[in-house]
Amino acid sequence: MNKLINILEDIFSKYYICSICLSRLFYNSYSKKINISLGKKLKKELKKIIIKNKKEKANIIIKNLYRNSKECILCKNLFFFKIKKIILNIIYKIQFYEFNTFYIGIKIPSNLIKIEDEIRTKYEITSGDSLKSFFNKILCKIISKKTGKKVDFVNPDLKIIYEMENDLIKIEPTSLFIYGRYIKNKRGIRQTREYCDYCKGAGCSECNYTGYSNEPSIENYILSFFKEKFNAEDSILHAAGREDIDVRTINTGRPFVVEVKRPLKRNIELKQIEEEINKNAKGDVIVKGLRYVDKDVMKKIKVLSKYEEKTYLLKVKFEKPVNKQILDFIVSQLNNRVIQQRTPTRVLYRRKDIVRYKMVYSVEYNQIDKQIVEFKILCQGGLYVKELAHGDNNRTNPSMIVCKRTCTWR
Ligand SMILES: [Zn+2]
Ligand SMILES: [Zn+2]
Repeated sequence: MNKLINILEDIFSKYYICSICLSRLFYNSYSKKINISLGKKLKKELKKIIIKNKKEKANIIIKNLYRNSKECILCKNLFFFKIKKIILNIIYKIQFYEFNTFYIGIKIPSNLIKIEDEIRTKYEITSGDSLKSFFNKILCKIISKKTGKKVDFVNPDLKIIYEMENDLIKIEPTSLFIYGRYIKNKRGIRQTREYCDYCKGAGCSECNYTGYSNEPSIENYILSFFKEKFNAEDSILHAAGREDIDVRTINTGRPFVVEVKRPLKRNIELKQIEEEINKNAKGDVIVKGLRYVDKDVMKKIKVLSKYEEKTYLLKVKFEKPVNKQILDFIVSQLNNRVIQQRTPTRVLYRRKDIVRYKMVYSVEYNQIDKQIVEFKILCQGGLYVKELAHGDNNRTNPSMIVCKRTCTWR
């Protein structure tokens, strides 16, 4: 206690620090309870000792114990004059958002951080909380109590940031990610929408102020519904690879994730969006299996969306003669498919054993004789094409060999 009183004596002979900052410097931050009254107690104690011992700087120290229009050097009186207004403001602003979890952060001017660092270093104060974590703790507690919503530090629906410098509250709803698959039944539909010819994206009467051309595209068929339903600032399509405008995407369809940016609403029935998209697209495009996913799924899809195409010429010798029917079947099965590929056995000794997903965009062939066929494969860079032919014991799927077997069996 004596050491602490000496530190306080020295601090208060120079500066005014508010009792809340004093509490947060010295309270036990590991205990569950935030001891806000500690600062007041310490000030009382210090005053008593100063008066009793008739210390030389007693007058200055006692003056510095009380606010009297002074500003706390550590928080600029944040906890006295501004905090109530900040809380009211936050409560007002977040009512426009649908959310279940939130997190509150604060941006502190660097000079304040520096002052606290200097004081902590000088007096070797390692206890308590920084202004930042103390503010977070207190505010999260209060807002959670007032709204009944949960605090989530890692993945909150709403990030609430208080910028101390300009006394500003910023609400950042985190993006929503929705997974689905689309089927394109009609040729002549591109994947990405193009900017409007007239305004080049700025928005004009020609494009209904969307900035995009009205020409049919997967994005046009899908995205506006998400933006509207979630009352979002924007929605972005991340698809697993692309197909050409003239290519259909059938079978299981192409996986995609829609990123809904800054949504006001979050709890939307996805079946309803699916139905509306499909009704509007009249069968040209069908969306199915919409479901909420986390950000990681989007990252995986994004890898697939990198359209770095490579062309390989692959000469394949089949064990037995093949005919046009078999070759056509192989092509139809590999065209526009996501290939699941575990690290090939032949490179396993020097590469990590992982599963890669790579797109084959198109396959053409030229039969040289009964058993030898030359394939021209347009695919995403990084696909092991030899394995695409022989399947590598099913580590690459689908593959030519499996397609051939399926075809011969039929
Ligand atoms: Zn303070
Ligand atoms: Zn326009």
